[in-house]
Amino acid sequence: MKIAPIIPYYTNFNFNNKVKNSNPNRNNIQYSTNNFVYPPVYFKGVNLTKAQAYLDSVIPKKGFNRRLQEIYDLDLDKLDGIQEGIEVFKGLNIKEIAFIARTLFSVNTNRGCYNMCSHCYANAMPPVKESENVINKMSWEDFESLTNGFKELNSRLRFYISAPKLGGFNRGERYITAFHDADCMTLNLVDAEGKQHDFIDISNALSESTGFRGIFDTTGWTPTDRRMQERAEKFAKYYSRPENRDKLFQFNISINPFHSLYTKSIEEKRAGNLERAKKFRRLYIDRIANAIYTFTPLINTRSFSFILRGFDRGDIGKLGEGFTMEDLYKLNQEILIKLQTKYLDDLAGERKYIKAKRRINYYLGVLNYIMDRQYSDGVILVDKTRLLKNVGKDNNYYQSSMEQVKKDIDTIKSSSVPTDFIDKQMAGIVDSNGDYYITTYYTTFPTELKLNFKNKNKQTPPIRPSLQEDLIISRDVINNV
Ligand code: SF4
Repeated sequence: MKIAPIIPYYTNFNFNNKVKNSNPNRNNIQYSTNNFVYPPVYFKGVNLTKAQAYLDSVIPKKGFNRRLQEIYDLDLDKLDGIQEGIEVFKGLNIKEIAFIARTLFSVNTNRGCYNMCSHCYANAMPPVKESENVINKMSWEDFESLTNGFKELNSRLRFYISAPKLGGFNRGERYITAFHDADCMTLNLVDAEGKQHDFIDISNALSESTGFRGIFDTTGWTPTDRRMQERAEKFAKYYSRPENRDKLFQFNISINPFHSLYTKSIEEKRAGNLERAKKFRRLYIDRIANAIYTFTPLINTRSFSFILRGFDRGDIGKLGEGFTMEDLYKLNQEILIKLQTKYLDDLAGERKYIKAKRRINYYLGVLNYIMDRQYSDGVILVDKTRLLKNVGKDNNYYQSSMEQVKKDIDTIKSSSVPTDFIDKQMAGIVDSNGDYYITTYYTTFPTELKLNFKNKNKQTPPIRPSLQEDLIISRDVINNV
């Protein structure tokens, strides 16, 4: 069922001024019931009268109730039952669904990644082999049951259940990701008819059902991989169209010395194999230059950005050589030189992106400008076996990462109400089998919640980093509202 867009009440509110009135609920919650067109509600033979009557009594059909900013401002005991008949939420009460909706950041549509970046916050491993009892991705049917389930519930509530309080999430915009440990180029789900659904379908469905825009992250692909190249060109075309330009919160290319190709080049250099080191460095530079070149049509969109991570030299110490911000600056300059060559070749040949020489300087200038704003030394050293082998534990990064894990564990132990997790901006993850987790990106905690997926009894690889299997966030805490 399609629900009517909820027009943000405070349409001017957005930290990055990225919200337009035409983008429904891209803002933090403040919905105008004046503008809400009530859709038909499908009761599916269940009796929602009590919950519906309560809702009618608190949400005015005209005007706006300023005291109601989010789902937790409602009396959830009285609202319970509003979810009845929605298959994916079977077995969960409204307090448990509210907890999922308000903390949800990632839906694990695909599990695993071949890039093996040594700093990967999710410590991603290549996809596990699927078998009768093991899956490495969500089924399209389970994915649709989740997005349709949210849409049905939003429709019954008349607002997005996931919408956060005004001023929440660092006073910026909240977003949703279709991955936790996968590269967006590889996201792919196949439906019962055999139709493939890539990032575009998946991200659009998530945005429609949560009201949040998606994030696209990639660290490039092998330029000779034709399937990936075609897919990337399709994404570039799609997101450069005026009607799709604002669909994503960010479109990121991740550049760093931690990608497996580059890490290999550092390891070879340390072993004295200079030719091999050069070869891996070159492969990495070509890969990223090709990704930027392919996404040239997006350079001028507001969502286009980079994720640039390196170590602060002073904090990582001597063993961090090769992985520092200074190394990253140099690397980026080489990538831009390679890109310039590609643009010049294009100008002299096909003229796919470059029709005049001045355009090259323009793009390089914009890219330099965006890069300058995105450098960050935020690297987490938890569960990073390969990186720790290279940089050791005797540095500030490792110490502070371990301290943060300890703090997280204490925080979880002392959290007794659901808003404790929301106020601290912990992120929820729906795994491919419906299990629900909470992570701080230093530490991950299982919860007792599980969505009613068809694949609910299948196994998936552990969610990282630092999964605390014995510290389970209980239903008692989640229901303590
Ligand atoms: S591409 Fe992303 S998910 Fe994959 S290993 Fe690198 S950081 Fe992790």
